[in-house]
Amino acid sequence: MRIVISEFMDEAAVDTLRQRFGPDAIHYDANLVDNPAALAAAVADCDAFIVRNRTQVRGALLAACGKVKVIGRLGVGLDNIDVPACEARGIRVIPATGANALAVAEYVIGTAMLLRRASYLSTAEVIAGKWPRNKLSAGRETAGAVMGLIGFGSIGQLTARLARALGMHVIAYDPALPATHTAWQDIGVQPKTLEQITTEADVISLHVPLLDATRNLFDANRIAAMKPGAVLINTSRGGIIDEAAVVAALKLGSLRGAALDVFTQEPLPATADWADCPNLVLTPHIAGVSFEANIRVSSMIAAAVIDALK
Ligand code: NAD
Repeated sequence: MRIVISEFMDEAAVDTLRQRFGPDAIHYDANLVDNPAALAAAVADCDAFIVRNRTQVRGALLAACGKVKVIGRLGVGLDNIDVPACEARGIRVIPATGANALAVAEYVIGTAMLLRRASYLSTAEVIAGKWPRNKLSAGRETAGAVMGLIGFGSIGQLTARLARALGMHVIAYDPALPATHTAWQDIGVQPKTLEQITTEADVISLHVPLLDATRNLFDANRIAAMKPGAVLINTSRGGIIDEAAVVAALKLGSLRGAALDVFTQEPLPATADWADCPNLVLTPHIAGVSFEANIRVSSMIAAAVIDALK
């Protein structure tokens, strides 16, 4: 039995796999994803393959997975894996459903509060002896604001619970979840149309998978239709919002702030476009990666892979 792990995984979970299958059976290299030739050679005789979101399991790499029976995904989005092609080859694909939802939901609440208040990014000015008190005195509170969620699945629902606890009014759009589903009433969230969320929410947060139907969902027109002074948060996938339109709306002041954790191209290519955008938070796809979430995701996938190889 051989297992290849091509991106970072919690050491304790890797040790669980070593104990179960023997130390020589586990090929763990957190940087293997960056060496395509070594990666293709490594997967050629492995039974299980464990990846995060950077390893593109499709085409030539998938073809090289001759003996692979199971692919463990250290996260939930499956857009980096050609799932139909895996299924056609009899390979099971197992995501870490729910294990990083809290990390993402806390990121959304944290950035929503930061961007609405718009008063925490003054460190450089205060150090420089300036005292921008007047300029920063119109920050907005979170309680009473409208949180609009696009996608009301695992992460959307957890985000709604945290937002409700802060006194936010929460509305959500999810065409796959009937209005009769108990989650709406249990969490106290009003189902709305995409257009209603766009025009009514003070904070819009995206929690949908990247599909043809969601690609460019927040294009320039939709961003322009958002409530003036609203905040936009994207932790779902790059390609779902138009990044250039976010830059333009921030510079224009129609958007109060934005937090983006995911991008059409990752790493985001170095460019001056974002440099002078006010009230902007950019992070390198880490909304779902906290110390605790890494432990939960890694132990869930180690257990699932052990089970699948029985
Ligand atoms: P989930 O499958 O539980 O929920 C997704 C929801 O989106 C579903 O309820 C589905 O019905 C809904 N949906 C699908 N198409 C839609 C559309 N066109 N409009 C509105 N809703 C639609 O998934 P989840 O666990 O909540 O994760 C959501 C996404 O977040 C993942 O697909 C992944 O891409 C992303 N994610 C990112 C990070 C990160 O670190 N940034 C971490 C975890 C997940």
